[in-house]
Amino acid sequence: MDNILEIFISIVKKAGTAIADIQGQDINERYKAKGDLITRADELSHTLIENELKRYFPNIPLVLEEQANSTVPQSQFIVGDELDGTIPFARGMNEWSVSLAYIDEQPTHGVIFLPSLKILISAEKGKGCWINNKRVHITSTNRLADSVWGTELHPFLTDEHRQRFINTLSQHTLSTRCLACATAGALELLLGHTDLYINCKGGKIWDFAAGALSVEEAGGIARYIDGTKIEWNSIEMNVLLAANMKIADDALKLTIK
Ligand SMILES: [Mg+2]
Repeated sequence: MDNILEIFISIVKKAGTAIADIQGQDINERYKAKGDLITRADELSHTLIENELKRYFPNIPLVLEEQANSTVPQSQFIVGDELDGTIPFARGMNEWSVSLAYIDEQPTHGVIFLPSLKILISAEKGKGCWINNKRVHITSTNRLADSVWGTELHPFLTDEHRQRFINTLSQHTLSTRCLACATAGALELLLGHTDLYINCKGGKIWDFAAGALSVEEAGGIARYIDGTKIEWNSIEMNVLLAANMKIADDALKLTIK
């Protein structure tokens, strides 16, 4: 199938537009677990995405956030986040997205739609990354000390994560961004607004697959937070995205004890 990217774009646009229409309404906000918000928007997007994916890819397993998969299939699969950034969405902010990625041992196609920002990121392995159809190349020459870095702060971080990553890197960079939306974190790196994004804990494969592929196809670096290659074989994962190997190495030197 050679039009995976086009199909993914049509699906995220459909779901993203539908939930953008209900932002600001009563979206039945509640917790599905401690610190884990769900709304009517997540559910609406899930229904739309699942129906479309089953129609276009009837034989490919789906790993969707609201499907609550506990494991990752051994075969090729599609991973998706019906609404990344449920908290900013529910609070009327702009940093939220709908994203999909196709995984064949590693992400081969990825799409992120951020309706409030009117941004569509698309990437295909070996072919490139585009924002609103314009090719993206990350060209940062910043040192870590001159960088803005992105991360996430939430109750799932351990004291060790706070000390090793948050405290250390916030002392060795210019400033720290927390958007509560991993795909918006990847977008800021692609735009050159940040040079580093580290999500230490609490993230899932659907938060990172499309963003990591996009960053790599734009010339950046995607690794686990210990610097090793991402395996794409587990639901829970962490990620380090960097504009270049120098920034990644400098961050790793400071955070690996
Ligand atoms: Mg979600």
